[in-house]
Amino acid sequence: MCSLDWSLYILQVYSFPKLKKALEGVSCAITGKLVLCHPPLNMDYDVVVVGAGPAGCLAAKYAAKNGAKTLLIEEHASIGSPVQCAGLLSTKAIQACEVVPNREFHPITGAFVYAPDGRRIRIAGGEVKAYVVDRRSFDRTLAEDAIRAGAEILMRTRACGMDIRDRENERILHVTIEGEPDTIVAGVVIGADGVGSRVARWAGLDSHETILSGAQVGTIYDFDDPGFVEIFTGSCAPGFFAWAIPYHDSARIGLAVRPELGRGSEPESGAGFRSGSAWDHLQRLLSTHRVVSEKCHTHTTEIVMGGIPIGVPKRTVADRVLITGDAAGQVKPTSGGGVYPGAVCAKIAGQVAADAVREGNTSAGRLSEYDRLWRVEIGRELAIGKRINEWMARLDDSGFNRMIRVLDDPELLDLITRYGDMDYPSVVLRKLLLNRKSAGAFLKLVLARRS
Ligand SMILES: Cc1cc2nc3c(=O)[nH]c(=O)nc-3n(C[C@H](O)[C@H](O)[C@H](O)COP(=O)(O)OP(=O)(O)OC[C@H]3O[C@@H](n4cnc5c(N)ncnc54)[C@H](O)[C@@H]3O)c2cc1C
Repeated sequence: MCSLDWSLYILQVYSFPKLKKALEGVSCAITGKLVLCHPPLNMDYDVVVVGAGPAGCLAAKYAAKNGAKTLLIEEHASIGSPVQCAGLLSTKAIQACEVVPNREFHPITGAFVYAPDGRRIRIAGGEVKAYVVDRRSFDRTLAEDAIRAGAEILMRTRACGMDIRDRENERILHVTIEGEPDTIVAGVVIGADGVGSRVARWAGLDSHETILSGAQVGTIYDFDDPGFVEIFTGSCAPGFFAWAIPYHDSARIGLAVRPELGRGSEPESGAGFRSGSAWDHLQRLLSTHRVVSEKCHTHTTEIVMGGIPIGVPKRTVADRVLITGDAAGQVKPTSGGGVYPGAVCAKIAGQVAADAVREGNTSAGRLSEYDRLWRVEIGRELAIGKRINEWMARLDDSGFNRMIRVLDDPELLDLITRYGDMDYPSVVLRKLLLNRKSAGAFLKLVLARRS
């Protein structure tokens, strides 16, 4: 018996539409198997998902699993590239993606959080809280899962327009396949096309309130504990934070900044970070930050740049269109992590799209079930996270120094360890606000910021 993994084979052949077309006429065992598994494309689908990131792959998997004839299109030639991620995923995120951790996953058990004055706190619970993954192979696993569920994939296929003169109950998606123009008919289009979503724009859905600019390099770093990530607060990353994340023997050092705060930010202490883009701030972090510059190698192996949306739009559905993942701002505003919320929401999107097609009603009214369900699941947490993000964005270095000093207390660190949850930070925040030691100090920080 042949032991080939047919799903992988199909992924490769489907990655090259011209090759697939050429193979269709040929009568051989391989194409026989291929055509048997996947009938030739006639460009008419129940559900078309634009973008094969984690959200797109999971939306396609759930649409196919629920009986919809599903196509996933990706503009690049390779899934997961270019990488725009640090790859730090909570154990909950990995579960939500329905992936089983393997030896390539780097386990994380805790974090050191640094104040601008160099003081640091250690947050650790013993057990594995998260893993650092290679997003290229992680996303590919998700794409293979979508294929196994019955979805088809077209690589090097870019959505470049959506017809506003839709046929009844269908959307016409204009695409280029390997550079050549074509059209695809879809019962429902799911926009999972990332932070700069064009599908959202074509459907008239709001754009993001704020987009943080992120920059990261791959390099070598002298971690005190390779099971710990390091977080750097303050003006080294205005409006957000900087990170050092271990991945086996290497490191991902990066930061994100709020565009309106990235320029002209004056630190109270530290290395004189003054102005510029995320990339400028990262260069300064690597060369002059009191901790990072000491532990980091000057040579880098990879550069990653990307936007992180903060804030969800009022609507995530239109007639025959849903948006999900970064396209819908479904990102944790406290950490910039988008894989967990994207996975939770994308699975709902795929299911609702398939159900709507089966019922023959793909109007915005019918699809609003998606909007309602994902907000019930995670909307409140994202809204609280946005408020925390906005509050922290306006803390100056002395505010961060005071906050870390307050938290550097065995009772509070124990509380953070017990209730801290990367995906639901509101839980630990509530505990801190109710604790007699931290409540007063936090209140003072809030009031100081207001005055
Ligand atoms: C510097 C940085 C570090 C980050 N670190 C983390 C982290 O550690 N953990 C975490 O959880 N999140 C992290 N994130 C966020 C995370 O990367 C995103 O939230 C996540 O990738 C979003 O998944 P998605 O599927 O919605 O979109 P994406 O992963 O952006 O996928 C969108 C896909 O759509 C494709 N596409 C776009 N337009 C079209 C088109 N017109 N036609 C066809 N295809 C199209 C793109 O090529 C892409 O493959 C980080 C982000 C940045 C910028």
